[in-house]
Amino acid sequence: MRRTVSAALDEAAADIGRVDARVLACHLLGVGRAWLAANPMHVLTESQDAQFDSLVSRRAMGYPVAYLVGTREFYGRDFAVGPAVLIPRPETETLVEAALGRLPPGGSVLDLGTGSGAVAVTLACERPEATVHAVDSSADALAVARANAARHGAKVEFARGSWYSPVAGQRFDLVVANPPYVAAGDHHLVEGDLRFEPGAALTDGSVDGLDSVRAIVSGAPAHLKPGGWLLVEHGYDQAAVCEALFAAAGFTDLVTIADLAGIPRVAGGRQKPPG
Ligand code: GLN
Repeated sequence: MRRTVSAALDEAAADIGRVDARVLACHLLGVGRAWLAANPMHVLTESQDAQFDSLVSRRAMGYPVAYLVGTREFYGRDFAVGPAVLIPRPETETLVEAALGRLPPGGSVLDLGTGSGAVAVTLACERPEATVHAVDSSADALAVARANAARHGAKVEFARGSWYSPVAGQRFDLVVANPPYVAAGDHHLVEGDLRFEPGAALTDGSVDGLDSVRAIVSGAPAHLKPGGWLLVEHGYDQAAVCEALFAAAGFTDLVTIADLAGIPRVAGGRQKPPG
């Protein structure tokens, strides 16, 4: 017997909660929340019924909602996501805000480890006159990022490679990165969505999680224009060590910016202006 929307939602809610059940039903039926609420007696087709059960059981095993529905909202835009990329997180909007405030008119920006392209594409959309470059070592991630740039009509120059290697000899007004920074062995890696996200986007395997940050900071002076900014997202307990890394690399105007939860989240510093 085929179920009504209401019956299917009630059953799913027992396993995955009502919020996720509604999100998955909206995705499957291609409708909004209002339609769902207004049509509880709508009867699912056999195929919809089976597909809904399949989505619910994958969610019940912990598979991220964002991967099941294929998108996640970031800075007011929908981004395609899949298991090749980290799911964009609200705290990374702090990195975007910090970048928008420091990108000079018509300036150039480099996004290292772009993943889904959420940061680079957002910057290109918000500052259409800027030159935006984005690098990732994963071809699969770059395919997702390119699709997101196309989806939003953003002009981003993508290149594959490790950190600065695809942009050797080039200098930018701004370098931004949300690199892997979770320490190897951190219990968060085996909890929640992180279990299903690409390991290389979360941790580089270093004991303190900061090898990638060190590579980004030490390579930055050769890739920033005088007075240019470096902004790097980091973990909740990494602000002090990041600031020390920036200072040791000769950066000035050091800042630590908190995310909306009040957690220190972005380290920033400026390449010394000439003279
Ligand atoms: N903020 C992410 C988390 O801990 C980690 C993202 C990253 O390593 N860049 O959930």
